[in-house]
Amino acid sequence: MKVMILLGAPGAGKGSVAEQLKQSTQYAHVSTGDMLRTAVKAGTEVGRQAKSYMEAGELVPDDVIIGIVRERMDADGQQACYMFDGFPRTQEQARLLDTALAQFGSEVNKVFQLDVPREILIQRLTGRRICTQCGAVYHVINMPPRVEGACDTCGGALIQRPDDGIDVVENRLDVYQKQTASLIDYYQAKGVLVSIDAAKHVDETKRSIMESLAE
Ligand code: AMP
Repeated sequence: MKVMILLGAPGAGKGSVAEQLKQSTQYAHVSTGDMLRTAVKAGTEVGRQAKSYMEAGELVPDDVIIGIVRERMDADGQQACYMFDGFPRTQEQARLLDTALAQFGSEVNKVFQLDVPREILIQRLTGRRICTQCGAVYHVINMPPRVEGACDTCGGALIQRPDDGIDVVENRLDVYQKQTASLIDYYQAKGVLVSIDAAKHVDETKRSIMESLAE
């Protein structure tokens, strides 16, 4: 099992670069945020447990998160290569991931910290729009659709994610600083951290990550 982690605040571009890396590497993209949104939509038990935390921009409890990640790893087995996006987000999740990986005789190989100034994060998040039908992501300024409010690919209606409004965004960024940012030191101490300036275009971020993976 090979594992890389995309670590960074909401809006740092973890999901966008993961979509691109998926095309050029053998890593499977595992986003706990996407898994939780799917669970909320489907109305599963996990979805019911996660919904109110997500709406407020707070973290979903560690045991719920570890449960869904474990389930995924058990299903995929030892040969899997993972690109975790938005996981781990707490010291406890990081420790439990290490324990789970050790059971597969594996460990975290690389952690890419995507560094972006707060003003840019806020601009990226509050301007983000997603397609209600196919999930495609747009931005009102950086990547507007051809027709306002409609998806270029499938014509579906574009909406703002419920947690991308300014108040919840501010809270999500504070939660990142309080509960997640210390993972930078955790992984630096393990010698697996690579910091990347991710304020530029996603292609640049992808190139830096590919170079590091090739080392
Ligand atoms: P994301 O799409 O990664 O920004 O995640 C959206 C929301 O899902 C977050 O604001 C949290 O409420 C929840 N979430 C996603 N991943 C995690 C995680 N690893 N730990 C706790 N909560 C999470």
